[in-house]
Amino acid sequence: MANILNGKDVVNAMMQQVMNLVGDLKKKEIIPKLGIIRVGNKPDDLYYEAGAKKTCESAGVACEVFSYSDNVTQEVLEQALTEINNRGDINGILMFCPLPQNLDESRIRELISPVKDVDGLTMGSFAKIYAGNETGFPPCTAQAVMEMLNHYGIPFLGQRVVVVGRSLVVGKPLSMLLLHKNATVTICHSKTKNLSQVCREADILIVAVGRAKLVKSNFVKTGQIVIDVGINKDPDNAQRYCGDVDFEEVEPMVAHITPVPGGVGSVTTAVLCKHTVLACMRQNEL
Ligand code: NAP
Repeated sequence: MANILNGKDVVNAMMQQVMNLVGDLKKKEIIPKLGIIRVGNKPDDLYYEAGAKKTCESAGVACEVFSYSDNVTQEVLEQALTEINNRGDINGILMFCPLPQNLDESRIRELISPVKDVDGLTMGSFAKIYAGNETGFPPCTAQAVMEMLNHYGIPFLGQRVVVVGRSLVVGKPLSMLLLHKNATVTICHSKTKNLSQVCREADILIVAVGRAKLVKSNFVKTGQIVIDVGINKDPDNAQRYCGDVDFEEVEPMVAHITPVPGGVGSVTTAVLCKHTVLACMRQNEL
């Protein structure tokens, strides 16, 4: 039986820390605020937005949502972003991506002020992650994995970490964060040969692929730590979500494992909240 690495315990510890920081800011009459930019009404975006608002507001972090219809123009969105950037009361910006195809997303992303880029969306934030410069903010999901490993005291110095997935949101930035903490990182993707064999060689296996139950018992070995970032509709039960790891098969074999739901995904909004508070502190030179 594996030890289950619950997101809830990580969130509780993080939010206590965040609330202490918010309390200190309040004494200086400063209230951190997150601006959420959403185009359209995708159910996943609305779900994440509701969770982000709830988490932030529970810690005394304000939220303002800027929502636009699917047919918003490039000009209107660029103008809105410029205004939100210039608002002194908004410390962090979350923009849901991808944007509709008629919009030039990379141009709009780059308008986000580097000091407010709390979800690591801009090239400037990528560069900081790759350089190991900690004044930028990594994407919240990549940081959520780091928070999880840190909270449970999982050592990664010198450990062989295999990351499956190389997206800009999770796999690549997470690999860099781990590398800067002296892990020995292997990055896998859809063209990796002998994927199951490479995964078995890991001390820590992190999967961020988006393929339900891809990782079976032949991908893991006794004593491994398995972190599942995937959130997928469960092919065996339409009412449920599952990860990229076949939990039933893998859990009995490994030492530690994150569940889905209730694992990494539940930590992401706490990271967003923490990043907004840190951005607020930096903008106020505290
Ligand atoms: P993505 O942009 O689609 O990237 C998926 C990555 O997985 C790609 O690098 C792809 O390889 C690789 N891949 C696909 N099929 C593979 C296979 N059969 N074997 C090995 N590698 C394969 O996805 P993402 O945005 O990184 O998201 C990954 C998962 O994390 C999804 O389930 C998503 O829902 C979840 N997620 C969760 C959160 C959260 O917890 N809040 C946030 C973001 C994402 P190529 O590069 O070769 O195509």
